Amino acid sequence: MLAFVMQKHKNILLAFSFIINVFGFGISEAAPVRNGSLAQEGYFVYDRSLQKMIGSTPGLSIDHVSAQGFEVWGPRGLGQWLQRNKIRSAPLSPVNTKGAGDYPSPEEISQELKGIAQTAPQLTRLFSIGKSVKGRDLWVMKIASKVEQDDNRPEFKFIANMHGDEIVGRELMVLLIKDLVSNYGKDEFVTKLLDSTQIYIMPSMNPDGAAAGTRGNGNSVDLNRNFPDFSTNDNQDRPDGRAVETQAVMNWQATRKFALSANFHGGAEVVNYLWDTTGEKHPQLQWLQSLSLGYAKLAPYIFASTTFKNGITNGYDWYEVNGGMQDWSTYYRRDVQFTVELSNEKWPSYSKVDYYYKQNRSALLYLMSQTHNVAQFWAKNLRSSFQPAR
Ligand SMILES: [Zn+2]
Repeated sequence: MLAFVMQKHKNILLAFSFIINVFGFGISEAAPVRNGSLAQEGYFVYDRSLQKMIGSTPGLSIDHVSAQGFEVWGPRGLGQWLQRNKIRSAPLSPVNTKGAGDYPSPEEISQELKGIAQTAPQLTRLFSIGKSVKGRDLWVMKIASKVEQDDNRPEFKFIANMHGDEIVGRELMVLLIKDLVSNYGKDEFVTKLLDSTQIYIMPSMNPDGAAAGTRGNGNSVDLNRNFPDFSTNDNQDRPDGRAVETQAVMNWQATRKFALSANFHGGAEVVNYLWDTTGEKHPQLQWLQSLSLGYAKLAPYIFASTTFKNGITNGYDWYEVNGGMQDWSTYYRRDVQFTVELSNEKWPSYSKVDYYYKQNRSALLYLMSQTHNVAQFWAKNLRSSFQPAR
């Protein structure tokens, strides 16, 4: 008991010393950001017992908890603080992109998307929903038959690469766009999908981070800690004061009626379902689990996970995320979102991209095709029962 009290005491002292130190290091130099959304430094901490303390320290956020430890992200000074407190850790940022082969630059991705849109004008429409901090376009590709018709076919979206150093999702999205375009009229499933659904794909929400190999955007903001969150003080669904990339997604989503979506990450291999921000059970938990399982079963390496049973997990059971896009999208905009962690390595060798595409292809098609079920489910159940009681 005494040891426990001492440990608890030590943790509170550590947290307190971090707050003092952060202010000592001048957090005010940084762009104004929401609590916990600065990712100027990132470390892997080899001590699971510190997860709670570090996760609840203002200004810090944790990610990718595993048996070995967890990632911690925060403002400048984090590394020195870890060192001073003798917390065993290793730096994570920027991710080592060297030797991984030739991933395209954000500019090359732009060119590729423009080329596809030019060659398949009946099926694709490329548009930018805004600019990144460094002035790069935030591209979205709409894919559907009769693409210019903005009609009442249900709407689906994928967003990848919101963490700039998690690159696999961006590549899979470009491959998926090409696959859909080239198989329309040939593959029955794809043809039916594009005839009946309006699909929107955003390969990179954070091109500045992708260019630099960093988690955060051009101002080191962690975009997946930057959205309104119903369980925190930052609970007003307003874009002002957030990162420009976050604002772009919020404003764009306000113009659409997405029924279902997913966002892609790297650093683990698992399908993550609501909620991330609270341990409260989602009112439609079984349904969320069955959709997650549907995805995982069709992505064999995810389903075979030895870390997560059947390759799925509830977000909060894994670790708490405040300000995440998944919960925001579902809670505020009634667009049910899943988070798919695609690869244990955030920036694997480029030669592995094809493997990940092949492993995920059926699952991606499955999830897009579920838009119809979700839209029907919406109509029947969700208006009254989707949000947690509060
Ligand atoms: Zn991520």
